[in-house]
Amino acid sequence: MPHVMISRKKCTACHMCELACSLYHEGAYRPSVARLRSECNPTTTEIKGFTCLQTACAKCQEACPEGAIETRVVTLEPEGAFDSAAKFEGVSAGHVLVVDENKCSNCGDCYDACPYGVIHEHPERKVAYKCDLCDGTPQCIVFCQNPHVLAIDLKIDKADREPVTRA
Ligand code: SF4
Ligand code: SF4
Repeated sequence: MPHVMISRKKCTACHMCELACSLYHEGAYRPSVARLRSECNPTTTEIKGFTCLQTACAKCQEACPEGAIETRVVTLEPEGAFDSAAKFEGVSAGHVLVVDENKCSNCGDCYDACPYGVIHEHPERKVAYKCDLCDGTPQCIVFCQNPHVLAIDLKIDKADREPVTRA
């Protein structure tokens, strides 16, 4: 169950991840339809990230009356700042939740069910859209503005880690 996490301590809310996300999915720099977001509280300056927990959560999938949110396997493909063995922790693939737009009726049940506000109605296509880990190469991680102190990481749950093979 790999999923993207944003570090409150490292993120500077530069919004590079949102630009990369929207470019990959929408073909344009359009953070308003990014699948994740980071917000900076103007009063406290506290930064908070909002990302999908995929199958570790799955409340949208449970709520969907059409069965339109499917569990799919993605192979993790290293690239850019994401190209680091430490990121994978022995995990080469994992499950993500993907919206089947042909089945989605835009009823809105998943929008209400999501605890993190990261599944929405697409403004043009009028169907639900959410993070799908970019087919295994999360662009938010690839393009995070400072690869030395990556503010975005792939969280790998213990159950996903493969046993270490000793020579
Ligand atoms: S908006 Fe679409 S994906 Fe969300 S619950 Fe309704 S039918 Fe399912
Ligand atoms: S979109 Fe929201 S409800 Fe669905 S798995 Fe992600 S965090 Fe959970």
